[in-house]
Amino acid sequence: MSDVFCIDGTRALVTGANGGIGQAIALGLAQAGAHVIASGRSSCTETVEMIAAAGGSAEALTLDLADPLAAAARLAEAGDLDILVNNAGIIRRADSVDYSSADWDDVMDVNLKAVFTLSQAFAKSAFARDAGGRIVNIASLLSFQGGIRVPAYTAAKHGVAGLTKILANEWAARGITVNAVAPGYIATNNTAALREDPKRSAEILARIPAGRWGDPADIAGAVTFLCSPAANYVTGAVLNVDGGWLAR
Ligand code: NAP
Repeated sequence: MSDVFCIDGTRALVTGANGGIGQAIALGLAQAGAHVIASGRSSCTETVEMIAAAGGSAEALTLDLADPLAAAARLAEAGDLDILVNNAGIIRRADSVDYSSADWDDVMDVNLKAVFTLSQAFAKSAFARDAGGRIVNIASLLSFQGGIRVPAYTAAKHGVAGLTKILANEWAARGITVNAVAPGYIATNNTAALREDPKRSAEILARIPAGRWGDPADIAGAVTFLCSPAANYVTGAVLNVDGGWLAR
């Protein structure tokens, strides 16, 4: 029997793969059979070693997405890719009335512009090879909701949902699917400040139907599905993986 969840023989690049959700995605894709290019501005050696220890195949590539055009120009160093996971992201919190232009630009560059430039470089390479591919963008609950004190993050993540749809429309006929996964509240560095605030933490937990913070591995499963033959006909979707938060 063929395994519709197997991605043996594919090459997958994951941005922000040195920790958190990106590291879990890198491990998940490797477990399903992909050769993973674990990309980060920080060293991804730990991720590569974890994959090797689990019997998988991986290499590291340093890519700083703070300069989205320069990062995209270097994507070819990863070789021919079948899968691109745009996971890297930053969050800066301040009241909107005081939000700095520098924070706005930094968040927009990493969380939205780099998603576009890397996807564009991925598609150019795929088109030149007459190859298809899979792109999975990491969105957020703030692709749907407003949040508070995170104006650039919310604008960027709404942008990620829109970008996912337009790129899906343009590239479906070329065999590239473009989807997003919208994580709920996942226990990583990104949410450390929230988890350390007893009041906010209790409020958040009380609203999650599943009754727990998400684990990075919860996101890895959804991303791996979207990269597998089982998702051949899924494109332009934003899949919520949030323990039921948005259904409430
Ligand atoms: P995280 O632990 O803070 O990881 C963020 C990753 O992005 C890190 O690997 C980080 O690298 C990388 N990154 C930041 N700036 C970069 C740059 N200039 N160039 C390249 N990489 C850069 O947070 P996370 O929770 O795993 O976040 C992963 C993604 O999930 C983000 O897009 C985030 O918005 C999204 N998300 C998270 C949650 C959640 O609850 N945790 C919810 C919704 C969406 P460094 O380690 O070098 O900083």
